[in-house]
Amino acid sequence: MSQKKKLRVGVLGATGMVGQRFLSLLEHHPWFEVVVVAASASSAGKRYDEAVKGRWALKQPVPLAAAGLQVRNAADVQGISAEVDFVFCAVDLPKAETARLEEDYARAETPLVSNNSAHRGTPDVPMMVPEVNPGHAQVIELQRRRLGTRRGFVAVKPNCSLQSYVPALHPLREFGLRKVAVCTYQAISGAGKTFESWPEMVDNVIPFIKGEEEKSEQEPLKLWGSVEGAGIVPAREPVISAQCIRVPASDGHLAAVFVSFDRPPGREEILARWRDFAGLPQSLALPSAPRPFLHYFEDESRPQTRLDRDLGQGMAVSIGRLRPDALFDWRFVALSHNTVRGAAGGAVLTAELLTHEGWISAR
Ligand code: NAP
Repeated sequence: MSQKKKLRVGVLGATGMVGQRFLSLLEHHPWFEVVVVAASASSAGKRYDEAVKGRWALKQPVPLAAAGLQVRNAADVQGISAEVDFVFCAVDLPKAETARLEEDYARAETPLVSNNSAHRGTPDVPMMVPEVNPGHAQVIELQRRRLGTRRGFVAVKPNCSLQSYVPALHPLREFGLRKVAVCTYQAISGAGKTFESWPEMVDNVIPFIKGEEEKSEQEPLKLWGSVEGAGIVPAREPVISAQCIRVPASDGHLAAVFVSFDRPPGREEILARWRDFAGLPQSLALPSAPRPFLHYFEDESRPQTRLDRDLGQGMAVSIGRLRPDALFDWRFVALSHNTVRGAAGGAVLTAELLTHEGWISAR
């Protein structure tokens, strides 16, 4: 599929860690062009490069096209909606305010693809990893009926913590996933921080990330849920137990996974499922789809956060150390880039899929 004219995009929360990543990923995007950057009232009115001065956290420089844009107040829903075809959202606001802001954009007939958790539990809001549950987009029809909109809707992506182990477990569902235990080792950019802004994380590990374990346990069940009358009904299995730990890495969330099955597969069967797995984004050759999505490392010292987080431009998931477990059937480790696949990149891929399927189009 080729877009004749690029869709006009707004980024809400453009000055933050995830917002910066959006601008960087969209700099040369073949289908989308950033025309609006928006943030809080305290950034509004500044040039974008001034607004992020001293807190630009990426290795790549501020994209030229964005540098000169004047930052808008994300609360100007009508004004921004008039200038864009759709928006990405990565604002850091209390949950109820985020939920309201996101629905305000949808009601202003502006599709919104969000990083935020506010609508992840809403049954008629699709929460998507495009390789895992592309069919969930169909609930947008129900949501539009509820909101009374013609083109506006909210779609979300799940929490960054689960974007390594859910893709790795997904091709194994045919064996009956029964129990999963997971420990995640999560980078500081997941908290919107760098070592400069969070020096306490140097030479340190913090065994608590607020709200993360609940999300890590519950959100996979919505991803694997089924579409029924009122929306998505979460799957009942597997039972998931998660511990989420903050570690001194800049980017990249690594997970140690333990899994039991109803019909335990052999090692070769697991490796074959991972090797052969391709989702809809791969078969449609969407611009941000990594090929392949899953990489297995035979080297037992991999994947490593620093060496492997950028695989597939940060959109691939790497897996290693598959071996039998004394309590569960199998154990392995998996890694994904939290601000690319786990945040902005995952949202961009979702928007590409929704555009390909006609849910997002030019106004
Ligand atoms: P961040 O670096 O703290 O950035 C927050 C952004 O929200 C900034 O652009 C900020 O604008 C904006 N903002 C704050 N108050 C606002 C308001 N009242 N109205 C409009 N915009 C406002 O946070 P982040 O790490 O990018 O995370 C953003 C969201 O994505 C959070 O909900 C987070 O949970 C989620 N998320 C983060 C990650 C990750 O890996 N970092 C992954 C998945 C999801 P100002 O600069 O003007 O204050």
